[in-house]
Amino acid sequence: MRLILMGPPGAGKGTQAKVVAERLGVPAISTGDIFRDNVVQQTDLGRTAQRYMDAGDYVPDEVTNAMVRDRLAQDDAGKGFLLDGYPRTLDQVRTLDAMLAEDGHAIDAVVVLEVDREELVARLLKRAEIEGRTDDTEDVIRRRQEVFAEQTAPLIDVYAERGLVVTIDGSGEIGEVTEQVLSALSSRDAG
Ligand code: ADP
Repeated sequence: MRLILMGPPGAGKGTQAKVVAERLGVPAISTGDIFRDNVVQQTDLGRTAQRYMDAGDYVPDEVTNAMVRDRLAQDDAGKGFLLDGYPRTLDQVRTLDAMLAEDGHAIDAVVVLEVDREELVARLLKRAEIEGRTDDTEDVIRRRQEVFAEQTAPLIDVYAERGLVVTIDGSGEIGEVTEQVLSALSSRDAG
């Protein structure tokens, strides 16, 4: 299965991506995690990405697209994957479509996690205390929410027009959300 997990910052994409991917036997590929790893290792990619991430802005498409292309070319992604945090712009959607089409593949489903705004801010501020991510300050969180609303929320409509969207209430407990995602995917599969 080739899946995309979408949702606003704080919706729990990272958490769900890992568990859901594990249960489906595909790798979870998080662009945010790959960027953060590169920042830690001080690679060229990391240095470029950090400037944007710390401001709450998206890393430029050409940088992100090239990175995802490399990652999807690895063996473990050959039979399927769960993308967390990509695509986030229309340009990324088009690039992903083209990359998959080269091998005759396409996205099977797009899982959208929905959580209300207040709950999102509360979760992110709590995560800031625990993980100390430099982009979890209140100003940057607000900026990330704006960028999501402007640039990424419209992608949900693009995938909805293709009949690929599965919307899940992300406000429950972690395990409940996971079960809802898995059961929604398997009933889609069956149907
Ligand atoms: P969030 O919790 O906001 O969803 P992520 O860990 O997915 O955070 O991403 C953190 C940051 O990494 C983003 O704010 C952005 O700067 C950068 N980033 C991640 N994925 C992408 C992408 N697909 N395109 C551009 N920038 C990205």
